[in-house]
Amino acid sequence: MGGRRNIAVAFSFSLLLGRAADAQWNDPKLVLGQVGFNVAVSFVGKMVIGHVPPGPALKQALKEGAVSGLVAHAGYSISGHHPRWALAGKALAQKSVGMTRRSVRDVPVLDQSLLTHWELTHSFIHFKWDGAPHAQIDVVNLAFSTYFAFGPDHYDFDLGRTLTSGSLVFRNFAAPSHLRGMYVPGALWVDAFDDDIPNVLSHEIIHSFQAERGSALKQWERGVFRFNWLVFASGVPALLSGWPEHGARWHELEADGYADPR
Ligand SMILES: [Zn+2]
Repeated sequence: MGGRRNIAVAFSFSLLLGRAADAQWNDPKLVLGQVGFNVAVSFVGKMVIGHVPPGPALKQALKEGAVSGLVAHAGYSISGHHPRWALAGKALAQKSVGMTRRSVRDVPVLDQSLLTHWELTHSFIHFKWDGAPHAQIDVVNLAFSTYFAFGPDHYDFDLGRTLTSGSLVFRNFAAPSHLRGMYVPGALWVDAFDDDIPNVLSHEIIHSFQAERGSALKQWERGVFRFNWLVFASGVPALLSGWPEHGARWHELEADGYADPR
């Protein structure tokens, strides 16, 4: 019974927050993408990492993955529509990551941890609450952020957007003509002369959420250092924008779907 009540609480919570972002919230492709991803990761993870037999793994994954996917969808929708609220959205997106991480390891998901366990990565600092506060340095994000902080001087640090977006934000005064913005783990830039910076910012913020998703499967923690190596699975493709059909890749379609719904 407790589990069912917690699902209802999580679902209502997501619905309530999701109301702020209409077009994104109602897009079945985005909902199915989030739910499908989290159910699949949970199902495979439970069998491979948790050693759960396929039948019970599927049953649990459908329930836990669906709730986790909806929580993620709410977070992405809020931030895609309101980049100023990106930290709240990111907390929900990373809440989903934490839920799926527990699900993969067959640790209870729909219990009191639903309200007590949170995490939030801001640029290269990874904050975590599991009853007590913790802070770690995200090593991969720190490496990329350092490059931007000490990189070419046409990057102008944007303190206001940095505080609210969850990544270091720079305005690029010499952006290449084919790019409006770019995200690398921990940092992003937007074209300083773009007509619609909030929309570009939303798109890049969604990439920062995608970059955290891999940590549902694996993250290494060594004292105050955290290594989210799987960030490369979704963070680095942004660097490879010269590849053909860049705009057709799934992470680009998803970022456009949340930031610029059509
Ligand atoms: Zn993109």
